[in-house]
Amino acid sequence: MRKFTGDTLLVATHNAGKLAEIASLLQPYGIKVIGAAERDLAEPDETETSFAGNARIKAHAAAAASGLPSLSDDSGIEIDALGGAPGVYTADWAETPEGRDFAMAMTKAHDKLRANGAAQPWSARFCCTLVLAWPDGHNEVFPGTVEGRFIWPMRGENGHGYDPIFQPTGYDITFAEMDPDLKNRISHRADAFARLVKGCFD
Ligand code: IMP
Repeated sequence: MRKFTGDTLLVATHNAGKLAEIASLLQPYGIKVIGAAERDLAEPDETETSFAGNARIKAHAAAAASGLPSLSDDSGIEIDALGGAPGVYTADWAETPEGRDFAMAMTKAHDKLRANGAAQPWSARFCCTLVLAWPDGHNEVFPGTVEGRFIWPMRGENGHGYDPIFQPTGYDITFAEMDPDLKNRISHRADAFARLVKGCFD
């Protein structure tokens, strides 16, 4: 496992929320964190069929273009009764000509579950894979998951994306009904981050 030894890390995202979350996580390590937008980096096409594959594309493209070690994340939800869909296409299911519509995407998933007659509970997991890539082509990969179930109807106002339909195992509330601090402690992203920190920053 290669350790991170520099003083600046590029986070391969144009999403200000993801950037802030990663910067605060790495704050104890005294690392300067900069975003893809600060370096005017293009967003590469995500052409792989796995979270790790797409995270690798983003991290290597950013490392090659910036000359800095670069961290990317790729995430989504897998619903077992839908064969793991939407998976790497989680964001795509929400696309409309007017932008992303997650209520529509969650309704689509529910319609498919009803149509195929899948028995409840509808087991599901959120997945997040973090990839740290260096300009010389080396990378380290850190997958994270949180198990739970798809519930219907949607519940809760917090969070983002598919949070209103995901109830993590051991809780009777959805991610969208949960205090964000609690979600951020038990989430797929927290799981992947813990592995990243242990592997490359401790
Ligand atoms: P990405 O930016 O390509 O990784 O897209 C991941 C998609 O998965 C997002 O657009 C969200 O819809 C969904 N997603 C990932 N993590 C979460 C989460 O913590 N809550 C709700 N939705 C999530």
